[in-house]
Amino acid sequence: MSRIVIKDVKKAFDDVVVLNDFNAVFEDGEFITLLGPSGCGKTTMLRMIAGFEKPTKGEIYIGETEVSSSKTFVPPEKRDIGMVFQSYAVWPHMTVFDNVAYPLKMKKMDRASIKEDVESVLEIVHLSQYSERVPSQLSGGQQQRVALARALVAKPQLLLLDEPLSNLDAKLRDSMRFEIKEIQKKLKITVVYVTHDQMEAMTMSDRVIVINHGDIQQIGAPPEIYRYPANQFVADFVGKINFIRAKSENGQVTFKDSKQSLDYSGPVTGDVVVGIRPENLRFISRNGDFLGTIVSKFYLGDVNDCRVDIGGEQLRVIAEPKSFDTYNEGDKIQLRVDEFSVFPDSGDKDLT
Ligand code: ATP
Repeated sequence: MSRIVIKDVKKAFDDVVVLNDFNAVFEDGEFITLLGPSGCGKTTMLRMIAGFEKPTKGEIYIGETEVSSSKTFVPPEKRDIGMVFQSYAVWPHMTVFDNVAYPLKMKKMDRASIKEDVESVLEIVHLSQYSERVPSQLSGGQQQRVALARALVAKPQLLLLDEPLSNLDAKLRDSMRFEIKEIQKKLKITVVYVTHDQMEAMTMSDRVIVINHGDIQQIGAPPEIYRYPANQFVADFVGKINFIRAKSENGQVTFKDSKQSLDYSGPVTGDVVVGIRPENLRFISRNGDFLGTIVSKFYLGDVNDCRVDIGGEQLRVIAEPKSFDTYNEGDKIQLRVDEFSVFPDSGDKDLT
């Protein structure tokens, strides 16, 4: 069982607090991503799960075992964890086989069992035919898979991955994302993944924990945090969005500059910020929610990326590619809003 419970965990280095009251449960077999900007504390959380750091306060359980608390501390090598870091450091002088076999040799396993286990994990990461090569004869993605195989070979109950794809180019990152997910599904292993890349988090995770300045902002499945962000930070961090200052009263939000409004009967009233994702704005021929003028349009192949002035505010609209020929810069158009969020206005000067 590799259910992880993190209870009231706080971490400070000297008197600098980097994580506040972290509470979360990762279910057995779940793919959980810690997502947040640089310095928000995600690596520190991962290092505490691994046992490389001790919490200042609180408890961590892996399965039934209390691995960190004021009373107990289980060292990293006893936690049954596989890890891969950003630098993925495979040993350059060893063959792929020896790199992957290393953790088993440390455990003093017999040669026949080592061979069997290494061959089986190399097959999982599609490296069987490369077992006698050294890392310099492999691509970046293949080296990354060696690191992954080495982390998996001892059949850990839990796999911790800290930005493991950040040294790879965009195309390789794409395919490795898919492969890591496939491996996790196949082995039914619990994965805790750290990244600042929202695309990585959204595509791989069962649930994402969004962190900022050491505080959990939201825990949820990717569609949940994308469609129903808990606050402005999450809305901004997990995708593109238009933010517009507005007043929320009498069942409507009315934009401060253009005075255009939307029906809204939710709980947030007074000075608010309305968030509308660009793909939730549609050009329509009549009965739109807004009137506007197309300021610019860019054909991107799969979509048409437009800026529309609605009389004070400019909105980004991601429209269908075929709209590129239908609408031109300067055209007066109507926009339909399919979905939007309303947040209390925190008074931030810059709205992106
Ligand atoms: P990144 O994406 O840049 O790795 P992160 O979200 O993983 O960022 P952490 O590495 O967890 O962030 O660091 C959180 C904060 O804790 C940072 O301000 C960092 O400087 C600080 N920190 C981390 N380790 C230590 C340490 N050993 N001593 C003092 N401060 C530390």
